[in-house]
Amino acid sequence: MSDYPRDMVGFGSEPPHADWPGGARIAISFVINHEEGAESCILNGDAQSERYLCDLGPVEAVPVVGGRDLNAESMFEYGARAGFWRLWRIFTEASVPVTVYGVGMALERTPEAAAAMIEAGWEVAGHGYRWIDYRDVSEEVERAHLKQCIDAIAETTGARPVGWFSGRRSIHTRRLVVEEGGFLYDSDGYSDDLPYWNTDHGRAHLVVPYSRNNNDLRFATGGVYTGGDFFAYLRDSFDTLYAEGADHPKMMSIGLHNRIIGRPGRAGALLRFLDHVRKHDGVWFARRREIAEHWHRRHPYFE
Ligand SMILES: [Zn+2]
Repeated sequence: MSDYPRDMVGFGSEPPHADWPGGARIAISFVINHEEGAESCILNGDAQSERYLCDLGPVEAVPVVGGRDLNAESMFEYGARAGFWRLWRIFTEASVPVTVYGVGMALERTPEAAAAMIEAGWEVAGHGYRWIDYRDVSEEVERAHLKQCIDAIAETTGARPVGWFSGRRSIHTRRLVVEEGGFLYDSDGYSDDLPYWNTDHGRAHLVVPYSRNNNDLRFATGGVYTGGDFFAYLRDSFDTLYAEGADHPKMMSIGLHNRIIGRPGRAGALLRFLDHVRKHDGVWFARRREIAEHWHRRHPYFE
């Protein structure tokens, strides 16, 4: 079984005590995906229009091959033009720090938003140069886009990213990230409630796992429609982890998208969730970089 390249055991029955700063019972990481303008579009040199993770219903979600889908394009434009700024106001007014998964081309198209992220003290992690499925491109293209994304973030925010999240990752993604170097963590994994070390690619590499269930993408893929559904799911996740955190503190990731939760009919769920969390002591609102730095320091890899 030792050559089976999956870890079905992890921390097992006794996960480590996270020992979060200040004795917190839970670490909460909000993530805003900044992708709009980098999606599939013939204006971006692609073969077809985008249909994934926007307000196209299941029947409408058919790409236009060789042409533009102006409705889909405008749904993405909403995220950059209106949704981003709604989320920016919510999180800055709440003084809650955020990690942005920044797509290089999207940041290049929205320099004012990139500057506002830095002004707010947010972390910008790399999320590809394009918002595409990296299983569809060659390893060479994926490597080149990794470097282009790092450069775009450095140029638009003034600092290179130390975190990575590909999303629709290929079989090569993690190795390319490790080979590139300069990263404290990647978040391409969903397999635990705590960060963990991965040694598949020669040296110990930290994974800070992400969530596709505490994630507003469920509004687009099915599963939730109203803010009430989304709030209830986030609240239940928080309450479970908070109770467990008396003995075994964990982390909770919440994934958000400008064009999805940024719509007024959904943003209220986020405000209600923030209100719920703020009724509790012992919550550490952290950028993923800080969670990674804590894990490197407090839970270093041992052979
Ligand atoms: Zn994303």
